Formats: sequence, structure tokens, C-alpha cells
Amino acid sequence: MMAAVMDWQVHPAAPTGLSEEQAAYREAARDFARAELAPHAAHWDAHSVFPREAIAQAGELGFCGLYVDEAAGGSGLTRLDAAIVFEELAAADPSTAAFISIHNMATWMFAAHAAPALRARWGAELASGRKLASYCLTEPGAGSDAASLRTRARRDGGDYVIDGAKAFISGAGSTDLLVVMARTGGDGARGISAFAVPADAAGIVYGRKEEKMGWNSQPTRGISFEGVRVPADHLLGAEGDGFKIAMKGLDGGRLNIASCSLGAAQGALDAARRYMGERRQFGKKLAEFQALQFKLADMATQLVAARQMVHTAARKVDAGAGDATVWCAMAKRFATDAGFSICNEALQIHGGYGYIREYPIERLLRDCRVHQILEGTNEIMRVIIARHLLNSEEELR
Ligand SMILES: Cc1cc2nc3c(=O)[nH]c(=O)nc-3n(C[C@H](O)[C@H](O)[C@H](O)COP(=O)(O)OP(=O)(O)OC[C@H]3O[C@@H](n4cnc5c(N)ncnc54)[C@H](O)[C@@H]3O)c2cc1C
Repeated sequence: MMAAVMDWQVHPAAPTGLSEEQAAYREAARDFARAELAPHAAHWDAHSVFPREAIAQAGELGFCGLYVDEAAGGSGLTRLDAAIVFEELAAADPSTAAFISIHNMATWMFAAHAAPALRARWGAELASGRKLASYCLTEPGAGSDAASLRTRARRDGGDYVIDGAKAFISGAGSTDLLVVMARTGGDGARGISAFAVPADAAGIVYGRKEEKMGWNSQPTRGISFEGVRVPADHLLGAEGDGFKIAMKGLDGGRLNIASCSLGAAQGALDAARRYMGERRQFGKKLAEFQALQFKLADMATQLVAARQMVHTAARKVDAGAGDATVWCAMAKRFATDAGFSICNEALQIHGGYGYIREYPIERLLRDCRVHQILEGTNEIMRVIIARHLLNSEEELR
């Protein structure tokens, strides 16, 4: 509380409670998104173009390793800083912003757990966006129940040999490094280890590009691992740490995806507000109908509440709070549901024009629908929250 009060006093020009630096990151991300993402987002969506160039440009601004340590080549910012940046990118293009967010998550997992020599080889390349990373947890038979995954890594001399299959991997086929969860021990979470696997290693076979409802500016593919050999120093952390690493990565990932929903919602709210000032029916501007004014008021209220929740959860992760995971789950559940609902209301305000591709609303809606499903479905977020409520005496404040 004290810190927040101090912020307001020290930075009277930042009425949102953001520091001057955070206001500057927001400005930089907004300028980049408006200049480099917004003009192309509809084309990338319609033609399934993966905008590698634009992502590299984002990397030049430090957006590809936002919360990776500076020593590992990253920007060394906080999770709150990152949330601010992802929201701005997503207001222009949720699909590309979400890919950048997944790359950030995988890059952080790699940089925080790789052995020094491996980190030196890949860290700066990943954090700068010159090389890209995918996060490989889900399998055809292991989605929400990720701890039941069956991909195996067995030790063979100085190597590990990986066999198995992953499903729904964002960026697969267009990225350079795969962060792969594989079983080195017995059943359950403790038998899982994490590996950094070069994406062109012999024995990796990429499946067909999935045809999706949204997120069309990034490829999604299954991956088969057929006797894929990596040196033993490609293990991240120790054997058996993989599930913990995956879940820790997902705390940040959930904040990132939640922030992408905030951005999509802000983009949709802005478009709806503009449209209500332009469109006339019954001899009046739409903005003069109180039913629509109330809709807009509810959308803004939902968005502000969701943003506060995401920022609170980000501060919890930044502070290393013991209950950060449950806060991230609550923020992800709330912000991704709110984001979809706000985009849907904005579409309704646009009438038939909201449904056609000439306007950006239907793309924002399609893109943010998947945020309710991945990085743990919103049902799984409720499982995490309920478990905390039933097993802990701590109040969530
Ligand atoms: C476009 C896209 C990109 C993705 N990118 C990645 C990626 O980069 N890396 C990666 O590893 N994965 C990725 N995923 C996978 C994603 O994380 C999973 O789809 C998600 O975790 C759900 O798993 P599932 O699809 O197998 O659904 P299931 O686990 O089969 O769930 C089906 C339904 O049952 C519900 N359910 C399951 N268990 C419970 C329970 N205990 N209580 C209540 N309800 C329950 C779920 O919420 C859901 O509604 C991506 C998915 C998509 C669609």
C-alpha cells in the first residue's frame, strides 16, 4: 500500500499509478503496435502469415525477453512491466502479441534454468528475438492433466534420447528452440524433466499446420520426437524439476495471456466508442441510446476491474508472494472471460458491420477466444483457486 501511495506522490503525471518508466514502456509499445502491427494484422490473419520480421523488430525494442535477466541478454523488467507491454501489443494484434508472449515465457524458462554454457549460446539470441522459442507441454492424451504426459527422455551415455508426441505447439515449425517437458522418472509430476531441444534436431517431425478459428498469424502444429538426441547439458534444472519449471513458467504465461485479452478488449472498446459516435439510426447517433451507453459503461468497468486484477497478480509474482499462483489463476480466468465478453459486446454494438472482416472486431473476438482455453483452461483456473480456498487458511487479499 505504502509503495502505491509513494508512486502517486513521486509521479503525479502518471494518474494510472504507473511509474514514469512504466508509462514510457507503454508509450513505446503503443507506438510500435500502431506502426508495425495494426496496419498488417488483418492481412496476417487472412493469409496466415507469421510476421517474423515484425517480431524481430519487437525484439530490438526489448520485447522478446522482457522479464529475462539482463545477464542472460534480456530486458530485466518486472512482470508488471511485461503486462503493460503485452496489453499494448494486443490492442493492435492479439495473435502476434500472444505469440511474442509465449516466446517470452519459454525464453524465461530457458534463461532461468539453463546451464551457463547453454545459456550463453542461446540466451541473447532468444531475448533479442533473432531466434524464437516454443513451449512444448501438451500432448494428444495429456491436456489439462499435463502431469500424465508420456513423452520419454532416457539417458544414453552423454545424451538424452527423446521419444513421444506433443500437440498444439504454438510457433512449431517456425521457431528455433523447443522447451520440452518429458518423463525421465516414474508416473506423476515428479517424474518430469525439462529440456532445451534445437528445433532442427534429427528425429523431430512437424505435423500439418492446424486450421484455427483465430491466432492465424502464428502456426500451431503437433510435433513427433523419434529418437531425438540432445547432450545431457540440455537438461533445464535438475532431473524431476520439469513440472515445477513448467508451472512456474505458466504463472507468468497466464499473466501474459490475460494481458493480451485486456489489449483485445481495449481495442474493441475503443472501436465501439468511435462507432457509436459515427453511426446514426432513428435520426440519432448510436451514442445517444442509453441502452448502448450502459453497455459501454459495463464494458469499461469490466475492463478496468480485469486490468487491476492482472496488475495485482503481476505484483504478487514480482514480490515472490507465496500465493502468486492462485492470483495468476484468478487474473487469467477473470481477464480472459472479461476480454471475450467485451469483444462480443463491441461486436453487437457494430451490428452487422461487426461481423464482417472490414472491421477489426470479429478478428479481436476470434483471437481472444482461445485465451479461455490455453495455458490452463478457465476450468483448471477454478480448480487451482478452489484448491487454495479449501486447503489454506490464508485470505486472498
Ligand atoms: C491455439 C492453441 C495453441 C496452443 N499452444 C500451446 C503451446 O504452445 N504449448 C502447449 O504445451 N500447449 C498449447 N496449447 C494446448 C492447450 O494448453 C490445451 O489445449 C489446454 O491445456 C486444454 O487441454 P485439451 O485441449 O487437451 O483439453 P482437455 O484437457 O481434454 O479438456 C477438455 C474440457 O474438459 C475440461 N476439464 C478437463 N479437466 C477438468 C477438470 N478437472 N475439471 C473441470 N473441467 C475439466 C477442460 O476445461 C475443457 O473444457 C494450445 C492450444 C491451442 C488451442
